[in-house]
Amino acid sequence: NGNEDMSLPEELRRKYTLSRFLGKGACGEVRLAFTKGTCHKFAVKIVSKKVFTMGGRNQRALDPERIFGEVQIMKGLKHPCIIKIEDVIDTEDTLYIVLELVEGGELFDRVVSLGRFTEPVAKLLFYQMLVAVKYLHEQGITHRDLKPENVLLGSDDMETIIKVTDFGLSKFVGENSLMKTLCGTPSYLAPEVLRTAGMGGYTKAVDCWSLGVILFVCLGGYPPFTDERKDMKLEEQIIRGSYQLHEKYWRGISDDAKDLIKKLLTVDPKKRFTVTQALNHPWLKDQEMTAKANK
Ligand code: ADP
Ligand code: MG
Repeated sequence: NGNEDMSLPEELRRKYTLSRFLGKGACGEVRLAFTKGTCHKFAVKIVSKKVFTMGGRNQRALDPERIFGEVQIMKGLKHPCIIKIEDVIDTEDTLYIVLELVEGGELFDRVVSLGRFTEPVAKLLFYQMLVAVKYLHEQGITHRDLKPENVLLGSDDMETIIKVTDFGLSKFVGENSLMKTLCGTPSYLAPEVLRTAGMGGYTKAVDCWSLGVILFVCLGGYPPFTDERKDMKLEEQIIRGSYQLHEKYWRGISDDAKDLIKKLLTVDPKKRFTVTQALNHPWLKDQEMTAKANK
């Protein structure tokens, strides 16, 4: 085949044919791939190890240890709601991570195109996110970058399986150990991360905050903390846990849902709901829904 990209490593070319572009994030691009012969489909995340320039400042984009860390974390995970890592091809300047393919797109795009989810659909999707993050936390892993771009959907159906992905920022942490790295995406960033600007430590409670933001976005169709608010800066909104439930959007939504959001968007990480507490909240004690998700 003459149109094969010879810049790709030999091992990759021998095993896979790369196809169209699937997505883009901070770490590089993701492309569709087929295994040679059997034509099984996968997603290949292509991560450059090179230093790149951004905003006029030289930044070390990705140190090899961080990449290696992401791979080790993902390889060890096995859960229906977590993206499975199939293969890794490591070259001097690029890392090719072969991932289980999901074809329903990002939760982000789904929310944007629908405006927001109905409560039963949000519940089914959010339940799976909780189960996935519970699994991560039990493995001693804090995701640290939970947001709708990193939650992928299995299909175009409303009642689809979800898969949490992108552990680029994850690190193993013990039950009480604190993480000191400042990372994450501002809109989903927990107050304790902002407040300490990386000087203090924080725990897996940061994921529960992000989950609260995600649930808010799924049900309300707009983010709880935003630059568009004129009376308070984004950082201040987060540090105070100040969000507005506009009557127009929240009128039809149950008090249970609002209560769960409140418990996740609790500023004090010690008082904030854990994933297990969230799973035991009345909003998620819907028998029919859990039966469906466990199917
Ligand atoms: P980054 O670390 O650069 O954010 P991600 O792992 O989040 O990279 O991938 C970036 C985007 O690529 C995702 O938001 C998604 O749209 C797409 N993508 C990633 N993994 C898959 C996959 N396994 N199947 C389908 N699309 C994927
Ligand atoms: Mg991502």
